[in-house]
Amino acid sequence: MATAIRTRKPSVRAPRGARRRAQLTVERLAAIYPAATELQHRNPFELTIATILSAQTTDRAVNQVTPELFRRYPTPADLAAADLAQVEELIKPTGFFRNKARTIVECSQVLVERFGGEVPRRMEDLVTLPGIGRKTANVILGVAFGIPGFAVDTHVIRLTNRLRLVETTDPAKIEQLITAMVPASEWTGLSLRLILHGRRVCEARRPRCEECVLNDFCPSSSVRPR
Ligand code: SF4
Repeated sequence: MATAIRTRKPSVRAPRGARRRAQLTVERLAAIYPAATELQHRNPFELTIATILSAQTTDRAVNQVTPELFRRYPTPADLAAADLAQVEELIKPTGFFRNKARTIVECSQVLVERFGGEVPRRMEDLVTLPGIGRKTANVILGVAFGIPGFAVDTHVIRLTNRLRLVETTDPAKIEQLITAMVPASEWTGLSLRLILHGRRVCEARRPRCEECVLNDFCPSSSVRPR
């Protein structure tokens, strides 16, 4: 079966010791975040919609609204035909609710019209869905279908640089470098856990190095190595 696995040699070099730091990062983050995503879902459709709703908010806020949303609209066909105002009301706590309501309804319409009501399993198809970029598509491929992918967002760019796994802010180069130094089975989990860690501990303005499980080997740590 065709997968999204990259096998090309990276065109940029990783910093010295990056492979070892990457390995430690994989192990430590998996230990503290056993579930790579906290978005509740029962199938690829629910994960797709929950992932769109998770933009600019917490997984917890999304999990508060999705049970009722999917109770009323359990399939792409149901959500495609939904009343926009009712969807807006249901997802209000996730913020940006007007845009998000329109996006999830349009996404469902495309699923029905072009993909027979099923979430597609190929990156090139997923990125044609409203609200789905390469990053979200990687999450769907990895979590819903077990097809490895390393999604790069602002948190991943920041953390991979602070940990000196890479020395570039170019998402495509970061993806190339990390997928060359970490086994494919870890790509999806590492990406999602870096995002979680970036939100909770290694924040952009004030990284909380003193409570970070990576602080003994992170080159950017403000804590002295033990
Ligand atoms: S030690 Fe500090 S800079 Fe390094 S990953 Fe942890 S929080 Fe971020």
